Amino acid sequence: MNEIPSLTEKDGITCFLFPRWEKAGLVGHGFSTRLGGISKGPFAYLNLGLKGGDSPEIVSKNRHRFLGIWGKHERDLFCGEQVHGKEVFLVDREFLKKGSREIPATDALITKEPQVLLGAFSADCLLAFFLDPKVPAIGIAHAGWRGTLMGILAGVVEAMKKNFKSKPDSLEVLMTPAIGPCCYEVGKEVLDFCAVSPWSSDTVFYPGIRPGHPFLDLQKTNNNILCKTGVKPANIVTNGFCTHCRQDLFYSYRGAKGGATGSHMGIIFLR
Ligand SMILES: [Zn+2]
Repeated sequence: MNEIPSLTEKDGITCFLFPRWEKAGLVGHGFSTRLGGISKGPFAYLNLGLKGGDSPEIVSKNRHRFLGIWGKHERDLFCGEQVHGKEVFLVDREFLKKGSREIPATDALITKEPQVLLGAFSADCLLAFFLDPKVPAIGIAHAGWRGTLMGILAGVVEAMKKNFKSKPDSLEVLMTPAIGPCCYEVGKEVLDFCAVSPWSSDTVFYPGIRPGHPFLDLQKTNNNILCKTGVKPANIVTNGFCTHCRQDLFYSYRGAKGGATGSHMGIIFLR
């Protein structure tokens, strides 16, 4: 798409939005930065994740602030456990009745129910938002190197085809800031996994300084995988941010060098 996503300030919170989706009004969506919350130390400021060790009360207040932009609440949130797998979960009417919120062993969610808030968390990993404006239906996926090489984004396209009769060439996909190829040196574990991945020919590496340690491009790799499933290149929105380079704006797991850090949240819902 010609129009690029942008950083926007809303209610004192700087978040990442795609203006065309905002204008079209079919979905509410956003990806947080670290700016605008009340967390301290390594979690400063808008930490929205509970796994890093920040105070749950503070995270809850930050979530209240972030979700409040769209008039939503923490209790509205559907998210996956995020285990770096490839499971895609359908949130349908039947599931909504059960009222469960975090879905075990799941890294991607889809729905066509209005006002159902799908969320995911990241600190270097890539999140992808999916919209089929024709059905309409949405999805969200969390993809680090493992999920990427397992083809989780292709899994979302398949699940939307199967459950909503979505046509891949109608799908629009927005990728959030993630660790860039400038900073994402990988090693044997990733190369071995890639060698047996059905998506190995779509995986983009750049040569590194150290032998056997190339740099992985998550965004381009996922872009190639989506194109192979039939998503139009013009309907995939990428961005130039690297979470590791821009730790003034973003949390970076790798940037924290094994220490504590916060998480961003990406959310999308059909209006
Ligand atoms: Zn970088």
